[in-house]
Amino acid sequence: MKSDSYDVAIVGAGIVGAACANELARRGMRVAIIDRDVVGGGATAAGMGHVVVMDDSEAQFALTRYSQKLWKRLRPELPEDVEYEQCGTIWVAADDEEMAEVHRKHAFYGTRGVPTEVLDARALKSREPNLRDGMAGGLLVSEDVVLYPPCAAKFLVECAQKHGAQLRLGKSVTSLGDGLVACDDGTEIRAERIVNAGGAQAAQLTGGVEMKPRKGHLVITDRYPGFLRHQLVELGYLKSAHSVATDSVAFNVQPRRTGQILIGSSRQYGAEHKEVDPTILARMIRRAQEYMPGIGGMSAVRTWTGFRAATPDKLPLIGPWPADKTLYLATGHEGLGITTSLATARILADQIMEAKPEIPIEPYLPSRASQEPIHA
Ligand SMILES: Cc1cc2nc3c(=O)[nH]c(=O)nc-3n(C[C@H](O)[C@H](O)[C@H](O)COP(=O)(O)OP(=O)(O)OC[C@H]3O[C@@H](n4cnc5c(N)ncnc54)[C@H](O)[C@@H]3O)c2cc1C
Repeated sequence: MKSDSYDVAIVGAGIVGAACANELARRGMRVAIIDRDVVGGGATAAGMGHVVVMDDSEAQFALTRYSQKLWKRLRPELPEDVEYEQCGTIWVAADDEEMAEVHRKHAFYGTRGVPTEVLDARALKSREPNLRDGMAGGLLVSEDVVLYPPCAAKFLVECAQKHGAQLRLGKSVTSLGDGLVACDDGTEIRAERIVNAGGAQAAQLTGGVEMKPRKGHLVITDRYPGFLRHQLVELGYLKSAHSVATDSVAFNVQPRRTGQILIGSSRQYGAEHKEVDPTILARMIRRAQEYMPGIGGMSAVRTWTGFRAATPDKLPLIGPWPADKTLYLATGHEGLGITTSLATARILADQIMEAKPEIPIEPYLPSRASQEPIHA
């Protein structure tokens, strides 16, 4: 049996594990990244790649905004295949009630230094001519970005490797903790610190982590250049994203550099299988057509699903796991893990290396969610 030793062993080479590996290796740690699959598989391959500032809570705002700024700083280094585009988001208001939410968001972001623009019905139509007539307006958040997550994860792992990180693919981790990662092929990896970045499967590796998989569907169309200019999200999305009991769908469409349109999105608890559900898909497409009738005439080229890692309080778990002094968590990012991966990596590395974080970290500490006895 072969046993290697590192400062940090990261389980999971999705966008979160990749970002953590890069951050820690860049700061001089000897890092191993372990995954049973490929780099940027898992939810990272399934995600939409919308780097979006959000305002459900102050903690969510702080993490998304911090991370969005880190993505912007990294932009000059990102290769073409990451397809970083600052297309902005328009939150679409269908009626006056949703228009009130536009004004609330505008005020919230305005007092926190995020530029936004309130669009009336006419301004909205001129920005997105293919939206149906009769919308009340919207909010343009111009600094939001879209990118292609699997290539972003690949880039981050390559950066980590340039700083000496070792990539160990094809290894399924059977247990982790007490400074040891054990794999199904008998490999044992020893490390001062272990980071569980296993996405929606993280709870299977660390008992007591309260997290549920939340299934999502996406569709990508053929190429329709110019049809869509911004990421468009219905304001009703907030209601459906918060629903915990029912399956929900919402209008959420994204322009890709290729001219393709990525159509989302759905949220389901209790759907364990990755198969596409035609009923959910039909509801999603119907919803998209209600906002953009032209979508009805488009060809879809692929549909797929993925699983978000959802915590009860909708915030990720970033930091030490109280039941094991060697173990850290970097998971539970639900529908925002692409956005918040870079900030997650920063504040995780700050904790491991005892540096001062740039934002308060308390809301994300796993100790808030621990069901395990705390080490004396
Ligand atoms: C439909 C959908 C749309 C989304 N849209 C967006 C969006 O627009 N913007 C946004 O910010 N976020 C979005 N998300 C969320 C985002 O995709 C995730 O939060 C993010 O990808 C999580 O990354 P991760 O690295 O934590 O997990 P993953 O990408 O799932 O990576 C976890 C890795 O751990 C590995 N692993 C797990 N268990 C083991 C084991 N036992 N042994 C070895 N390896 C293991 C897996 O193979 C996998 O590679 C979306 C998600 C979905 C499903």
